[in-house]
Amino acid sequence: MKGQLSLRSQLSLVLGGLALAILGGVGGYLGGIATDELFTAQQAVVRSTAQSAAELLASQLRDREREIELLSLAPHLAQGGLDSSLVRDSLDRRAALHDEFAWLGVADPDGKVLQATGGMLMGRSVAQREWFIAARERVYVGDVHEAKLLATLLPAQPSGEPTRFIDFAAPIRDADGRLRGVVGAHAHWRWITGLVDGVTRRQSPGGGIDALILDRDGRVLYPEALKAAQADGQPVLPTALVNGRVEGALRFGDGKEYLTSEAALHARTNAELGWRIVARQPMELALRPVHELRRELALLGVFVAAALVLSALVLARRVSRPVEELARIARRVETERVVPEFPERPAYLELAHLSDAMRSMTRSLLDTEHELQQSNATLESQVQERTAELQAANAALEHLATRDPLTGLHNRRNLDTRLDEALALDRRYGVPHGRVHGLLLIDVDHFKHINDAHGHPAGDAVLRQLAQLLLATVRASDVAARFGGEEFAVLLPELTGAVDAVMTAEKIRQAVESTRFGAVGKVTVSVGVSLATPEDADARPLIDRADAALYEAKRSGRNSVVLKSAEPAA
Ligand code: GH3
Ligand code: MG
Ligand code: MG
Repeated sequence: MKGQLSLRSQLSLVLGGLALAILGGVGGYLGGIATDELFTAQQAVVRSTAQSAAELLASQLRDREREIELLSLAPHLAQGGLDSSLVRDSLDRRAALHDEFAWLGVADPDGKVLQATGGMLMGRSVAQREWFIAARERVYVGDVHEAKLLATLLPAQPSGEPTRFIDFAAPIRDADGRLRGVVGAHAHWRWITGLVDGVTRRQSPGGGIDALILDRDGRVLYPEALKAAQADGQPVLPTALVNGRVEGALRFGDGKEYLTSEAALHARTNAELGWRIVARQPMELALRPVHELRRELALLGVFVAAALVLSALVLARRVSRPVEELARIARRVETERVVPEFPERPAYLELAHLSDAMRSMTRSLLDTEHELQQSNATLESQVQERTAELQAANAALEHLATRDPLTGLHNRRNLDTRLDEALALDRRYGVPHGRVHGLLLIDVDHFKHINDAHGHPAGDAVLRQLAQLLLATVRASDVAARFGGEEFAVLLPELTGAVDAVMTAEKIRQAVESTRFGAVGKVTVSVGVSLATPEDADARPLIDRADAALYEAKRSGRNSVVLKSAEPAA
C-alpha cells in the first residue's frame, strides 16, 4: 500500500490535469483563431481609415480648387477693376465662409497684389512665387510650404509650429482670353491635418489609430514630430513601406510594431500632389482584446481546474470514506469473529451491494467456521471415546491372550513366550555374571481326591486360592503362570544360584501347607526345580528337567521340593 496513491489524489490529479490540458488546448486554439480574426478585422479598420482619409482629402482639395477656379471666372474679376472694393468684398466673403483660407488675394499680371483679404500684402509683389508663376498659365494647387510674407502678419500657430500653407491659384482672363491677373489663396496646413485627424478619430473612437501624410518622395509631411525626426536623419518609416508595401504588421522607427495601411491620394486635380496617407495602429493595442481573451481563458482554466480538483476531492471522499469504513469492518470480523454492524444506509448503490455481499459472506463464513468448530469438537470427543474403548478392548484382548481365565495368572503360552525371550536375550548378550534363570513346576497333591470329595467347583476354588498364594509369595519380577490343570509354573529370572530357587520353592510349599483352603481344608503341593544352562537350545530342556524333578518329588512322597540340575555335558 506504500507508494500507492489514494483514489482522492488520483482523481484530483487526473481531473485537474485534464481541465488544464483541455482549457489550455481550447484557449490556445481560440486564441489563435481570435488573433487571426482580430488581425484581419483591425487591418480592415486601419485600411478603411487610410482610404477614408485619402478620399476626404482628395474631395476637399478638389472642392477648394474648384472654388478658386470659379472665383477666377466671376464677372467682377473677368471685367472691371481688380483693385475695386467689390473684389475685396468678395474675397472677404469667401474667407469668412471657409476659415481654412488664411489669405485670398488678386495680383495683376506683373505680380503686384491689387486686393487681398484684410488688406494684407496689398501692393507687394508675388511675382517670384511659384503659385503666381504657375497660375498665369493654369489652375494650380501647390504642395505644402512654410509661410513667407504672411508669416509675420498672421497670428502664430497654437502648437508653436511654423505656419504652413498649401496654395490654390487660377488665372483671371478677360472675354478675349487675355490674362488680367491671378487669384491666389493660402489654405492652412492645419486644415488638412485636421481633416485627417478627424477621420482617424471617427474610425477609432478609443484612439490608437493615427495617420501620417507622406509626400510623393516618401517624406513625412505630418505629424510634425516624425517630420522633425526624419529631418534629423533618423529612420522613421518601415523599410517595407518605403519599398512599396502598403499593408501589414510593420515596425516603425520607434521600434514598435504597427498594423499599417497606406492609401494614395487620387486628387484628380490639376496638381499632382502624389501624397500618401499611412494609417497605423500599435500592434499591442490592436491585439489587446486577444490578450485579454487569453488572460481570461487562462483564469477560467485555473478556476475550472480548481473547481474540478475540489469536486474530485469531495467525490473521492464520498467514494473512499465508506470503502475505508468497510475495510475497518472487515478487519473487525477478522479479529472479533462476530458479524458487526454494517452501515445502515450506504452512500451509493454499488456500496450497498458491496456491503450486502460482505455481510452475507461474513455471516456464511462465520456460520461455517462455527459448524466446523462444533464438528471438530464432536469429532475429538468421539476419537477420545473410541480410543478409550479401543484401549480397553486391547487391554481386554491382551488379558484374554496372556492370562488364564480361572486364576488370572499368566497362561501357558505367555509363560513360554517369556521363557523364550529370557533365554534368547541370554544367548545374544550373555547371562549377567553369576546370574541364572530358574523354573519351578508346582503340582497339587492328590487333587483328584479333592475334586471327588468336594466337587469340581470346590477344586476350582482351591486353584484360585492357590494362585493368590503364589502371587503373594513370589517377587513382582517373577512370572507366575498356570501350567495346565492343577499344575503351576514360576519363572524366576536372574537368581544368584540354585539356593535361591530352592528357597523360593520351599517358601511356596510351606505357605500352601500352612494355609486352610475353605471346606477342603489342608492342601499340599510338590515342587520341581530346574536352572537354565547356556547349553539349553530353548526352554524345552529346562521344562523337562523341572518336570523330572517334580516327578521325583511325587515319588519321594509328595509335599516336597526337588532340584534337578542339568546333566554335565558328555
Ligand atoms: P498326584 O498326587 O499323583 O498328582 O495325584 P492326583 O490326583 O493329583 O493325580 P493327577 O495329577 O493325575 O490328577 C489331576 C486331576 O486334576 C485330574 C483332573 O480331574 C483334575 N483336574 C485337572 N484340571 C482341573 C480343573 O481345572 N478343575 C478341577 N476341579 N479339577 C481339575
Ligand atoms: Mg497333575
Ligand atoms: Mg496332582
